[in-house]
Amino acid sequence: MDEVRIPNQATYSPVALTDVFVLAPLASRVLLGATLPGRVLQAVAFGAYAGSALADWISRRDARPIDFEKTFGADVDNLTSMTDDEREAEVKEFVAQLNPNYEPMTMDREELAELVNEHLTDHIASITGQRVETSSQIRSFSITKVIFPFALGACDMLTGDVTIFRDTGVFEPHIIAHEFCHRKGYMKELQAQALAYMALAESEENILVQAALCERVHRNLRVLADADLDRYHELVDESGLREELVEAFHAIRPPPSAYERGVWTIMKPIFEERMRMTGQNGISDYDVGFTDFIHSKK
Ligand SMILES: [Zn+2]
Repeated sequence: MDEVRIPNQATYSPVALTDVFVLAPLASRVLLGATLPGRVLQAVAFGAYAGSALADWISRRDARPIDFEKTFGADVDNLTSMTDDEREAEVKEFVAQLNPNYEPMTMDREELAELVNEHLTDHIASITGQRVETSSQIRSFSITKVIFPFALGACDMLTGDVTIFRDTGVFEPHIIAHEFCHRKGYMKELQAQALAYMALAESEENILVQAALCERVHRNLRVLADADLDRYHELVDESGLREELVEAFHAIRPPPSAYERGVWTIMKPIFEERMRMTGQNGISDYDVGFTDFIHSKK
């Protein structure tokens, strides 16, 4: 089969290269009282970062991305809105499927990342006839966390560097798959959400199917709660999910700290704007757009 290999060199660096070129001058000033070593380190890290981004960009030009409109009859700008009744019916249907098949997440992240990447690569290849091979590396720390304290994961769009910030148990396979979609060149949030969902839901691996359905129920509940966090938690309690899943659904939306609330107030309009500038509908693509897409795709 046709194959494209994206090197993702930056993902194999022991620390995030962005962290090094952002933090090096600061660390050197504090630790060494001099700026020169910091500047050298900064330049080296920046060179490695730029080199990795360039190599990925060159190899990605040979990838044939999925045409969502043609394949699924729906895309970011062509969605049919679900009614609340349809959302409630979906929640009911998937809760009934999730409860008896519950499986706690025991696999370590490295092994899980390999498994997710394999299924995602297979799934994309089953549509495009081309395997887009990418790294399965994930890091658990980067300073992105300071800027996006509420994010569960992040992908550097230039180098494909992926960070998963905290354990989310049953949701983790979908969060990894979402970030890996960005790594494979799908930059739009709705497309990453949907592609990750389809690859996992159709995988026949119980923990992957479980993650996909949990994410779909979670997003439906978010929409039904109309972004009201207290209402979301009430809906989780009323959902009929078994105890372990109720816990996981509460844990994925903890009460925000004062810092997180502050950052969110500043960043939300910036995110909305950034998404619109890149041809997306806005933050609603993560939940409204994603669930509408999956519900109406052919
Ligand atoms: Zn994303």
